[in-house]
Amino acid sequence: MSVATNLDAVRARILAAEQAAGRPAGSVRLIAVSKEQPIDRVFAAHDHGATDFGENTAQGLVEKAEAFARAGREARFHFIGRLQRNKVNTVLRHAAMVHSVDRIEVAEALSKRSADARLRVLLQVNLGREAQKGGVEVEAAVGLARQVAGLPGLELAGLMGIPPADVDPSPFFAALAELSRALVATPEGARATELSMGMTQDFEIAIRHGATLVRVGTAIFGDRPPHGAVG
Ligand SMILES: *Cc1c(COP(=O)(O)O)cnc(C)c1O
Repeated sequence: MSVATNLDAVRARILAAEQAAGRPAGSVRLIAVSKEQPIDRVFAAHDHGATDFGENTAQGLVEKAEAFARAGREARFHFIGRLQRNKVNTVLRHAAMVHSVDRIEVAEALSKRSADARLRVLLQVNLGREAQKGGVEVEAAVGLARQVAGLPGLELAGLMGIPPADVDPSPFFAALAELSRALVATPEGARATELSMGMTQDFEIAIRHGATLVRVGTAIFGDRPPHGAVG
C-alpha cells in the first residue's frame, strides 16, 4: 500500500472514531510518526497533506527537519522520545511540541534556552508504572504540571501517555483523561487541554477517551525498516 492510500485510510478511521464518540470532525490532530522511515516516504506523506510529524530521537529529528528545510517544505515536528538534557538545544531548534517532559530538570533546561519561543510541552505520564518507560507517576503529575506551568518560555499544553503493551488500553486512556480533567480544573492548567494518546494499535480507542493528538506510524508508513538499514 502506498503512503497516500494508508494516510487516507487512517484519516477515514479518525473521522469515524470522532463521529462515534460524538466529537466534532477535526477535533483530533494526526501526527505521522516518521521515525526511522526513509525521507522519500515522509515526503510522500507531506505531499498528501500531512502537516505534523513525530520523531523519537534528537538525531532523527534533526535529519528530518533539515531535509524538509533543504527541500523548502514546511511542517511541524513533534519530539516524542526520551529527552536528555544535553539534547535540549537540538530539540528546541527543530520541534514545535515536546510530548515527553517528565521531570523538572528537563523542563527547566528547555525553559532556560527557549527564551521567547514559547515551546509547547506535554507532560508524559507513566500510565502502567513501567520501569522501562519514561513518564512521571500519575500521583505526581499535577504537581509537576504546576511547576512546569510557572516556567518562562514554555507553554504547558497538556498530557501524553502510552499504555502497557498487550493489555486492554481503555482503563489507561480513561485514567489519563481523568488526570487531564483534574489538571484543566487548576488555574495553572486551564489551557493544558491537549491529550496525546493512541498509536497504530489503539488510536480509535484513544479517540473515544478524548485524545486530541494521535501518534500513528506503522499504519501510515508500514513497518519500520530493520535497524541498520540505510534510509
Ligand atoms: C513509535 C511511536 C509511535 C508510533 O507507533 P506505531 O505503533 O508505529 O503507530 C507513537 N508514539 C511514540 C512515543 C512512539 O515512540
